[in-house]
Amino acid sequence: MNYEKYYSPLRAVHSADFHRCVYCGCESALNDFIPPVKFIHEWREVSKEADFISVPTCIECHDLLKNQNNGTLEHRVSVVKKLLSEKYAKAIRVFNHWSMEEIEEMDAAFQISLKGGIRLGKEAFSRIRFAGFDYEVNGSFTCVAAPQHQVFTVYEQAFESFREALAFASNAYQIKKSRLSKLYFEHGESFEKAIEVFHKLVDHPR
Ligand SMILES: [Zn+2]
Repeated sequence: MNYEKYYSPLRAVHSADFHRCVYCGCESALNDFIPPVKFIHEWREVSKEADFISVPTCIECHDLLKNQNNGTLEHRVSVVKKLLSEKYAKAIRVFNHWSMEEIEEMDAAFQISLKGGIRLGKEAFSRIRFAGFDYEVNGSFTCVAAPQHQVFTVYEQAFESFREALAFASNAYQIKKSRLSKLYFEHGESFEKAIEVFHKLVDHPR
């Protein structure tokens, strides 16, 4: 049976967004059906919230989502972002923790692998932060707000990215990046607390 007729296509409003994956901003190649056609029988009850739309998607997002059963675009966006974060966790860590100058000091083979990791991590990071685009479904338009401008602070200093803030704090307070980022996440995502805790541990070793 042709279930695809039950779905309305989601279309980008601006030409710059034509042929873009709605999830990550990469080039789109396929359509993703929300809810997925293979789970359609589970979404027939009216009490369940389902969008019944088809959205442009890249091959990778399409593949990551193939066994996920979600009824709404919003839900599916958060699932794919989580899956992308997990898949590229290692590369994102390399991107956050290493600078090109530090890498220049490594031996050649290690440099190649770290540089590859940084490139991949940077790309994954921007795909995860991609906020979507303005779109139209059945003549009704939705504007997607620009991504929230997140600021990372280290005392009085503000940075556009976690990566820059980590590099600054590591250098200014002479704490290894891996140690500092671990403390940062253990203490409520705060550089101030992480730095304080570090100094307490150094001054009063247990
Ligand atoms: Zn994608």
